[in-house]
Amino acid sequence: MSRVRNRRQKETVCHCCNAVLPFCWRCRCGFAMCQACMLENFWGMSCNGITWKCPDCGQWNGYGNQ
Ligand SMILES: [Zn+2]
Ligand SMILES: [Zn+2]
Repeated sequence: MSRVRNRRQKETVCHCCNAVLPFCWRCRCGFAMCQACMLENFWGMSCNGITWKCPDCGQWNGYGNQ
């Protein structure tokens, strides 16, 4: 496809798989991770399902608290 879509919405690049998505989990430091990668790394990043730990800066971020 050669047609370029008008990008009005801000898209986020997943820092894990480099996919460009309209939604990613984001950390305050700028790190972003898509839903698929989050699920894949869930057990390594979250211990309670409420918060996830940013692998970049180590900060805790809440789910659904964007
Ligand atoms: Zn990803
Ligand atoms: Zn971070």
